Amino acid sequence: MADGLLKRMGIDIETYDPLIGAGIAGRIRPNTALAWTESPGSVTREVQDVPAIVAAAHARGVPVALDNTYMAGVYFDAFAHGVGISMQALTKYVGGHSDLLLGSVSVNSKAMFERVGSAFADLGMGASPDDCSLALRGLQTLGQRLERLQASTLAVARWLHLQDCIATVLHPALPSCPGHELWKRDFTGATSVFSVVFQESVTAEQVNAFIDALRMFRIGMSWGGTSSLVMPYPDLARPNRHYRGRLVRLNVGLEAPEDLIADLRQAMARAAIQEPAAVA
Ligand SMILES: *Cc1c(COP(=O)(O)O)cnc(C)c1O
Repeated sequence: MADGLLKRMGIDIETYDPLIGAGIAGRIRPNTALAWTESPGSVTREVQDVPAIVAAAHARGVPVALDNTYMAGVYFDAFAHGVGISMQALTKYVGGHSDLLLGSVSVNSKAMFERVGSAFADLGMGASPDDCSLALRGLQTLGQRLERLQASTLAVARWLHLQDCIATVLHPALPSCPGHELWKRDFTGATSVFSVVFQESVTAEQVNAFIDALRMFRIGMSWGGTSSLVMPYPDLARPNRHYRGRLVRLNVGLEAPEDLIADLRQAMARAAIQEPAAVA
């Protein structure tokens, strides 16, 4: 969107290192209109120093927006941390059942409401009553689902962290995740989407065989629902990192975590990534 649509509209976009923190001050130009943040970052899960970014941006009169989808608006209080615009893909936790196409933008002031709300009307967008009723129904169980998803995901992520074939678990509640200390400072929980990076000795073919051998984690796109999902990212690169097909993204659903761990264990053995006997 930044390289295509926005560019054609004459909007200049500059990306930044998600761990830049207060260093964002050096990137703010006279024409900077908005700082757009996402924490933790999609797929590679970097936790950003949102309060430091807010302080630097506000010092120059620049509003800050946050994609708060991952924390479902629950485990990170965007407005309390100075964010003016909080966006969520309600497809994930609010919908909760992988069957809703809806998003939300919440703002912390009347002035911001007038700017964002009028753009919404000018663009002719509307949300259908059926979609809104699904979101309202999802909200009734959001708290219970998040508690269960958080506990199950931590159990699965900690088990993965112990496996020899895994180099890194990118889950904000684990110390191996970039920005983990910021997560401890600013967040009150974690949800169900995270990634693992296999050791360099594991080939991209083995990663694919592992994914194909999984029975409970199915390949899918609508994350944050009741079912566990898995997705490889063969071409994923970051400015100073290339994962060469060794990064796999997971969504833990409402199934029993011990069943999910058993599924991961048998798939590692079938893909010959790790001997069953070596799996704790
Ligand atoms: C999933 C996700 C989105 C987009 O969700 P859709 O279901 O594709 O609308 C946007 N931002 C973050 C941080 C997400 O995790």
